[in-house]
Amino acid sequence: MSGTPANENEQIDSGGPPERDAQYQRHVEIQSFGGGDDAPAGLVSPVPQRSGAEVGSAWLEQFADSPDVLKSTPEHQTVVRVGEVAIGGGEFFTMAGPCSVESERQLMETAEHVARCGARVLRGGAFKPRSSPYAFQGLGLQGLKLLAAARAATGLAVVTEVMSADDAPLVAEYADILQIGSRSMENYALLEAAAHTGRPILLKRGMVATVADLLRSAQCVLSFGNPNVILCERGIRTFETCTRNTFDVAAIVVLKEVSHLPIIADPSHAAGRRSLVPGLARTAVAAGADGLIVEVHPHPEQAWSDGEQSLTFDEFESMMADLAPWCDLRALRNRALEPVA
Ligand code: PEP
Ligand code: MN
Repeated sequence: MSGTPANENEQIDSGGPPERDAQYQRHVEIQSFGGGDDAPAGLVSPVPQRSGAEVGSAWLEQFADSPDVLKSTPEHQTVVRVGEVAIGGGEFFTMAGPCSVESERQLMETAEHVARCGARVLRGGAFKPRSSPYAFQGLGLQGLKLLAAARAATGLAVVTEVMSADDAPLVAEYADILQIGSRSMENYALLEAAAHTGRPILLKRGMVATVADLLRSAQCVLSFGNPNVILCERGIRTFETCTRNTFDVAAIVVLKEVSHLPIIADPSHAAGRRSLVPGLARTAVAAGADGLIVEVHPHPEQAWSDGEQSLTFDEFESMMADLAPWCDLRALRNRALEPVA
């Protein structure tokens, strides 16, 4: 419960767990010294601190519109199963592939390479949301067919973007996971049509969306009867211009704290430059993300879209090798946090 007790020796009952009440009690005791001359050295913070109980209720207010996506207990976690992959199930996983499907050769070579390096899901856009009407808009149905062929050849699951409600049933015939792009996060007719296909939904954060906005859209998908939502932090617009977007690593930490839905990171669209991608990917692992989605191309300089941020095959291979010890650390930490049965 927030507010200062009438008597500083009064026990606080926040309605929360006893450790939290004890923490709040200690906080009140520290505050009651008031920072005066008799304050014990090192105990008093000049900045008033909030107790865990208060922070908990502040989150509830912040995300009041999205009750079904919030954790009901600290251990509450949705696991989205796609074939053999359990997204959110503890194991860190990677989705990788080109920004756009361009040709059979480009896609097949990329799929085989990323599978060899440990990726579990193949990405690739067949319908592309492009900022310029003159830019490549995607191969459409032909692209979907190439994705399905690459899945058959490699065993990778497939994620691809759906841009219009009318296309949702068609895309769902070919893809294992439907991606809702940043520009579509608040297209509610699309969210409804995608949800109704029954396929898991990869919901990317809008580039000017708050975490609460993202959770509201996730809540919509759940309300349309589809519980299998994977959230994705892909960078947001800020005043910073040396990266394409600003990678909001704090959003990953917040989402792990408040939501039971899996959360993955897209360092490619956040960075906009391939040299920055491995560093952001490492940060995502450390922040507790459940996985990554990364752009990879056999010849990024010739890519029809997003070549500057696409990793070469060698770069992807070395990024995956560099991430391995960080993923091991993450697994050790998660095991240590598991409740004792
Ligand atoms: C993409 O994944 O290629 C893409 C267009 O992403 P976003 O919607 O995050 O811009
Ligand atoms: Mn892209």
